[in-house]
Amino acid sequence: MLKETKAFQLKQLAEKLVHLEESPLFDYRQANGYQPVPGEGDSNADVIFIGEAPGAMEAETGRPFVGRAGQMLDELLRGIGLNREDVFITNIVKDRPPENRDPTRAEIVLYAPLLTRQIEIIQPKVIATLGRYSMVFMIRQYNLPGKRKKIGQLHGQVLKGQTNFGDIRLFPLYHPAAVFYNRSLTPILEEDFQKLARLL
Ligand code: URA
Repeated sequence: MLKETKAFQLKQLAEKLVHLEESPLFDYRQANGYQPVPGEGDSNADVIFIGEAPGAMEAETGRPFVGRAGQMLDELLRGIGLNREDVFITNIVKDRPPENRDPTRAEIVLYAPLLTRQIEIIQPKVIATLGRYSMVFMIRQYNLPGKRKKIGQLHGQVLKGQTNFGDIRLFPLYHPAAVFYNRSLTPILEEDFQKLARLL
């Protein structure tokens, strides 16, 4: 598919999200003047990064990973010679949950088809999950090995699987915000990003 066609299809999806009134987070979005956060980056990217859900800064700007965790992600990308424009960045849930609580099962189920469609359009070589939520979701989605394993066991490893557009490699990473609670994860994340660079 042409890059322009991909970009157009991603734009159409983002448009759909704007009107997603059936979302349990829609009223909260409207009441706070927040924006939905579809994701952004290269429609032809080799790697797509998937976080959990937007925070306050993201909902205010309509852009993923622009707060503190986003600065960390930018730094990690720079460490492997990439900018955020070179990759695609998104989340499973595309509206901010109140008080940044964990997304509910119902929210994940509602937003998941949008994410699946984004992946089908972009057809990345690698899906890099950020944190436990998106890792677990993707493992289930593509029926990948490691279902019973924890992020501590799976981060920095390639999980191979099949999709309707061909082979896919899932690459679980710790969430960039995890380093704010546990500094010892910084060198681990940096090393995992170096491994990721070698996959691209
Ligand atoms: N954390 C996430 O999981 N996603 C964002 O977009 C920002 C912070």
